[in-house]
Amino acid sequence: MAAKRDYYEVLGVERSSSFEEIKVAYRNLAKKYHPDLNPGDPEAEQRFKEAAEAYEVLSDREKRQRYDRFGHAGLQGAGVHDFRNATTDDVMSMFGEIFGSSLFGDLFRHAARGGATGPRRGQDLLARVELTLEEAVRGVTKTLELRRSEICPDCRGTGARRGSKPVVCHYCGGRGQVVHSRGFFQVATTCPSCKGKGQRIADPCPTCRGSGRVVVPTTVTIPLPPGVDSGEWYRVPRQGEVGDLGGERGDLRVQVHVKPHPFFERDGLNLVTQVPISFAQAALGADLQVPTLDGAQTLTIPRGTQSGEVFRIKGQGVPERGGRTRGDLLVEVVVEIPRELNPRQEELIRELAELEHENVSPRRKSFLEKVRDFFSAESSGSPSPPEDRP
Ligand SMILES: [Zn+2]
Ligand SMILES: [Zn+2]
Repeated sequence: MAAKRDYYEVLGVERSSSFEEIKVAYRNLAKKYHPDLNPGDPEAEQRFKEAAEAYEVLSDREKRQRYDRFGHAGLQGAGVHDFRNATTDDVMSMFGEIFGSSLFGDLFRHAARGGATGPRRGQDLLARVELTLEEAVRGVTKTLELRRSEICPDCRGTGARRGSKPVVCHYCGGRGQVVHSRGFFQVATTCPSCKGKGQRIADPCPTCRGSGRVVVPTTVTIPLPPGVDSGEWYRVPRQGEVGDLGGERGDLRVQVHVKPHPFFERDGLNLVTQVPISFAQAALGADLQVPTLDGAQTLTIPRGTQSGEVFRIKGQGVPERGGRTRGDLLVEVVVEIPRELNPRQEELIRELAELEHENVSPRRKSFLEKVRDFFSAESSGSPSPPEDRP
């Protein structure tokens, strides 16, 4: 990359030059090197952009002061545009107020108008698509019914009744922009009368009432990959609103919403489910039928399973998008205590309770002893805490 030239040298002005002198120098250079007047001349285009950058700095009091004191280094982070990668239109839209002014004459009218009346991209359409969890995990192609604007077939988008033509807007003389003076600058704004089109419809098309657009129901298919999640946005290129004057269509942007599932909750790439088991199953172990997205599957839980324990079924979760790994299914077992007992059940549980008085498990034994010790210590007036006995 070549070193940047001195901005005063680029514009051919003195360091003491006034703002007016800088403006005149820039206008003359922009005229001389404008790409429309120098087609296929990269040297001219580079000069044109170089001049724009120099003008941007030297026409701004603060940026000029920084440049005077510190040179190019002083402008880092000062918001100076790098015009080397800019297009002619970028330059025109930044400094169009100068080009559009009467001082410049007709020379740049074409270019300044280009921003207002040239092709414009259509707007993006936003939509929402609802998926089941199964669809989100496996991927799915959804069909959306949309209403979007298309070019009116009767007037081909002109808005004028067939056989008639739009007329030049008298307010802006067809430029699509009107120019106001603001301090040093001439500021161009979109023409309020024709909304920038530069034309007015004298005899509107009855089909679109002069808008040039009709709203048409459309069907769009959206392929969604496996593993999509709620809240994610998908872009379907060029399925949005039609553009103006040959500009390309906008995009369709779709937000995914995954409906709640009766069994599964999603946690990253894992699915989580809860399975109720009885006290007897927990105590003795059991083969459980648990739901997976591929149907019921057998999960063996061991003797002595505790309520809240989580078992992992590998690979039954959500596939990583674009990757090869897949999450797991986490099965949380919950021991349910019966709310009602029949006489036989009650008899058995009472028997169990009596048995447990004599034959308690080690863990419960130490707990019960701690409780007993605590109360006996309290009744004897000793403040010492209960001892931990094995
Ligand atoms: Zn029409
Ligand atoms: Zn107008």
